[in-house]
Amino acid sequence: MALVAHIDSGKTTLTESILLQSHYLSSAGSVDTGSTTTDFLPAERERGITIQSASIPVRWKDWTFNLIDTPGHADFGMEVESASRVVDGAVVLIDSVEGVEAQTKGVWRQLDRYDVNSRILFLNKLDRPGASFRSSMLSVLANRLHPRPMAIALPIASFDPQDYARAEPGIQGLVDLIKWEVWKYDAEGKPSIHALPRTKDELEQSDLFPPSHPIVPHLLPARVTMLDNLAQVSEELFDVLLGLPEDPSAYLSVQSSQILPHLRAATLRNDVLPVLCGSAFKHVGTELLMNYVGELLPSPVDVDPNPKVMAPNAPLRALAWKVGWDKRKGWMTFVRVYAGTLKSQSSVLNASQSQREKVSKLLLLYAAEAEEVDSLPFGSVGAVLGLKHTRTGDTLVSVAGGSNASSLRDIIPPPPLMSVSVIPHSHADLEPVEEALKALARTDPSVRVETLEGQLLVHGLGALHLEIVESRLREEWKVNFEFGQRRVSFRECLGSGDVSRVSNLWQTEIGGQHVQIKLDLSVTPLDEDESPDPLWDGNVVLMANGKPLPPGELHANPNDPLAQVAKGISSALSSSPNTTLALSRAHIQVNGLDYPKEVHPSVLAGASAAILRKVIRAAGQGDLMEPYIKLKISVDEGSVGRVVEDLGEHGGEVLDLNAAEEAEPEPFVEESAYIPPQWLSPSTGKAAKGTSSRMKRTILAIAPLSQMLDYSSRLRALSGGHGLFHMENDGFRRVSALRAVDILRELGRM
Ligand code: GDP
Ligand code: MG
Repeated sequence: MALVAHIDSGKTTLTESILLQSHYLSSAGSVDTGSTTTDFLPAERERGITIQSASIPVRWKDWTFNLIDTPGHADFGMEVESASRVVDGAVVLIDSVEGVEAQTKGVWRQLDRYDVNSRILFLNKLDRPGASFRSSMLSVLANRLHPRPMAIALPIASFDPQDYARAEPGIQGLVDLIKWEVWKYDAEGKPSIHALPRTKDELEQSDLFPPSHPIVPHLLPARVTMLDNLAQVSEELFDVLLGLPEDPSAYLSVQSSQILPHLRAATLRNDVLPVLCGSAFKHVGTELLMNYVGELLPSPVDVDPNPKVMAPNAPLRALAWKVGWDKRKGWMTFVRVYAGTLKSQSSVLNASQSQREKVSKLLLLYAAEAEEVDSLPFGSVGAVLGLKHTRTGDTLVSVAGGSNASSLRDIIPPPPLMSVSVIPHSHADLEPVEEALKALARTDPSVRVETLEGQLLVHGLGALHLEIVESRLREEWKVNFEFGQRRVSFRECLGSGDVSRVSNLWQTEIGGQHVQIKLDLSVTPLDEDESPDPLWDGNVVLMANGKPLPPGELHANPNDPLAQVAKGISSALSSSPNTTLALSRAHIQVNGLDYPKEVHPSVLAGASAAILRKVIRAAGQGDLMEPYIKLKISVDEGSVGRVVEDLGEHGGEVLDLNAAEEAEPEPFVEESAYIPPQWLSPSTGKAAKGTSSRMKRTILAIAPLSQMLDYSSRLRALSGGHGLFHMENDGFRRVSALRAVDILRELGRM
């Protein structure tokens, strides 16, 4: 499972609390002093944010959870993608002072994208002034996260009724509405658990609460509403409730064993969103959360109940979802086993790269400590030592029967949008810098490294991604370099010149022998409505039979002549002879190949690249393209004019000047959720945001990424510090002839 949240909601603090409560740590670290277990990179400690996923198996009661701390920003590259891909369930945290925030919606969509359907919501920081259980629940509905949030625990701010009257913030207890228990935390923070009475009268008389405690009259309605709501999505529970006697206490007699199976099924179907609450900082609610993670979130068997896959001797299939370097242990590859068993001291096939790999040791990593194991069975998550080539996102399979498992890579690195030149401090630093870059690209394949005319270039997904690359190079690899100018990545489209007379022959001398290779290619610009193949970065490459030609590294047999031809095509496309930019929007079909048998297939790569390069040169330089971003800017009415003018000056285009009204969808209705009264969380802080910000205007626009690298400081100046914006990638667009001249000049090509 993953913990996901808007930044500063308490993810790292909750992780520490979980580790402490499950006895992996004797004292919790703190993000505020930079001593936590999962934020272990120095770069992360400094920033106080988590940039690298960490995985820890947590044993709690009869369960083992693999806690995977996913980074929550698109610019962090492939690690976000692969970590999201590997979890089956998620705990989403909300800071209950703030309610649902922008990035809460972002991570929610990310979970949608990877089909992580089962989620639990944890309303954190209820000890803080201004925290509100009610407003947080309402913000879930207002922001349409889920139509059926279901409180399964209620907070007790204080056992002194006066504290409610005085609006004193706090969190001293919890009511478990399913098990019908109350958790009381003493002054040291130690909980004691007490069963609640099962009749209305006894409940009202109970000495678990002081007389006239305001929460007591609310407990029965909260349980009744919860059960009624659950019954709406569970026919069996509906029948159970229908069979109850007509006594107000009857709903209290329903045992947790009668509820849990239905609640679990509904959670797995994503019909309800269980809501828990507490304070990670004070360890209030952590144990209850772990209980319900165990009870409600899916196990690997729920995800793939096929017995053929679970059998210990089934063919192995595992995903390398993270690769990291450890000073003492060397390369560590984190895997999840999706079928069969991974054994130590065994050979496996990396199906994504068609390479055999030798597994030496298998480890379970408990934060700083490691336990060596002999095998990782179906469903487990662990670290592999000894792999030499495997990158984040690669698939590992059994060696036997591996050839038909030459599956496509599970995760395709997104195309790079920005690059920066890397300048080693001295000549002696060049090699270490190159080695460090190579290592980094293995841990994050969305980082690409290239040497162009003697200059070392690093390509990444955005400004923040490159910033993280920079600090990881310094902190983890300790190499000496400077970053040069940052640049967005441009593309060249295939030109429209006549290529019919380009020779399809390539000749060379090998060992004194004249060798001639013939490659029949048809190369045309991609039709406007033809979608490019993501594996070919904006192009389409087909075999003679019209089927897609997989890129070189995805062929089962690297000595397959077509694998070599594919390699050559990639190489020619990666740098056009006209501009050195990567080529885009070409439609290439390999119609025929003729070469002497005695020639080794590896010669074909160079020959194919040379022939395709001739074609691209003959077609002439096509249009240039640059990456665009989509912006959602929210500013006060008074700043709209300045913001729009600035967008125009930077090549942007306003799509909608008044997006707020339309873009704000109807909130989900309250009737299928139990919404407690506001006083349940006393204190008079600011109310959590729902659908406020009516005074603001929301502008939707697109703009070239190259013009928006410093937008946060620009918008601050334009909006008097009140503007907010959010940007996402919007693909490549053709630029005007005027802009093309600018770009070529910037690249030193004119
Ligand atoms: P992350 O960015 O989601 O990992 O959040 P952190 O765990 O780094 O927490 C951000 C800040 O919130 C830190 O200063 C924490 O001490 C604080 N914090 C986290 N949980 C709680 C909580 O339950 N109550 C209070 N009062 N503060 C908390
Ligand atoms: Mg964190």
